[in-house]
Amino acid sequence: MYLFVYGTLKRESKNHYLLSSATFVCKTRTGHKYTMVDLGNFPGVLYDRPISLITGEIYNITNELLCKLDDYEGEWYFRSEVEMENGMTAQMYFLKEIPSLMKDKSFVIPSGIWEDKMKENTMGVKEEILYAKDERSQRHKDTVAYEVHNNLYLNITNQCSASCTFCIRNISDGVYGYNLWLSREPSLEDIISHLSKLNLKNYKEVVFTGFGEPTTRFSIVLRITEWLHTQGIRVRLDTNGHAALINPGIKVVDELKKAGMDAVSISLNAQTEELYEKLCRPFYPGSYQAMLTFARECIAAGISTRLTVVKVPEVDIQACEKIAEEMGATFFARTISPHIRS
Ligand code: SF4
Repeated sequence: MYLFVYGTLKRESKNHYLLSSATFVCKTRTGHKYTMVDLGNFPGVLYDRPISLITGEIYNITNELLCKLDDYEGEWYFRSEVEMENGMTAQMYFLKEIPSLMKDKSFVIPSGIWEDKMKENTMGVKEEILYAKDERSQRHKDTVAYEVHNNLYLNITNQCSASCTFCIRNISDGVYGYNLWLSREPSLEDIISHLSKLNLKNYKEVVFTGFGEPTTRFSIVLRITEWLHTQGIRVRLDTNGHAALINPGIKVVDELKKAGMDAVSISLNAQTEELYEKLCRPFYPGSYQAMLTFARECIAAGISTRLTVVKVPEVDIQACEKIAEEMGATFFARTISPHIRS
C-alpha cells in the first residue's frame, strides 16, 4: 500500500523515524490542488480548497504500519486515497478542519511545499482570511468595477502571465468584499456601459487592476483609456510589466501613451532576476528584464511610473527601492498582493 506524506514524516524531518520500516518510492506531487496550512510545527492539508498541488514523498507501507499512523495522526486528520501527478494512487492524510485552538496560528502555504513555510509567516495568510465567507463577497460575483478609497478599479480579466506565490488569488475570492472571479470576460461594450452609469468625476482615478494582468486584454485597455481620457478622467494601469511579451510586435508603451494613460504601477517584486523567477513564476522567459524595460520606456514616455514590491522575507526592500530611484520611478512596498492597490 502506498502512503503520500508531505510534512514531518518526510525524509530528514523530525517524525520520519515513524516510517523507518517503510520503503521510499519516489518524490511527487498530488494530481489535484488542495490547501496546505501551516499549523506551527507541522502542516495539514485541507481537501476542499484548490490552491496548489501538494509536494511530498510516497512510501510503500504495510497495513499494520498504516493503522499505527492513523492512531498517530489522531482525530484532527482523516485519510483518503488520492491521485498523484505521476499517475500513482496513494493514501494521504487531510485535516478535517482547522482545529479551534490553532485558529490564530494557522497560515496558508501557497506553494504546497512544507519547506516553504516562512519563519515570519509574512508569505502566508491568516486562516481567517481563507475561510472568511464574506457575505459581500458572495453578493458581488463577477465584479467588473469596484470603488475603494475614492478610486474606481476595473477587473477586466482573470488571465495572467505569472503565478506569483503571494498572489491574493491563491487564497481569496476577491478584495474588500468584491468577488473578482469572472465567469466571462466583460466586452468593451459591457465595460463602457457600466462606466457610463457612474459619475466618474467622483473618483481620483480609474485603475486597471483586479484578479489578472490587464495587458492580456491590451486592446480593451487602450480603448477604455481613450474613452476615459476624452472625458478628462485620470487613468492608471497596475501591471506586472509583461505587456511587450504578451503582445509581441506591438509598441506597447507608445500605444499606452497615445491612448492617454496617465500612470503605471509596475510590480518589481524582486531585486534580482533569480528571486523574481522564484517568487513570480512568470510564463515568459526574460520577464524580469522585460518588466524593467517596460518601466524605463514608460518613464521615457512621460508616464508617471511607480515600482512596487510585496513585503515577503526574501525581498530586499532597500535594494528594490534603489532600483526604482535609479530609474526615476517612485516606489511602494505593499503587503500580500501587488495588484491590490490602495
Ligand atoms: S500577483 Fe498579479 S502578476 Fe502575480 S499572479 Fe497575481 S495577478 Fe498575476
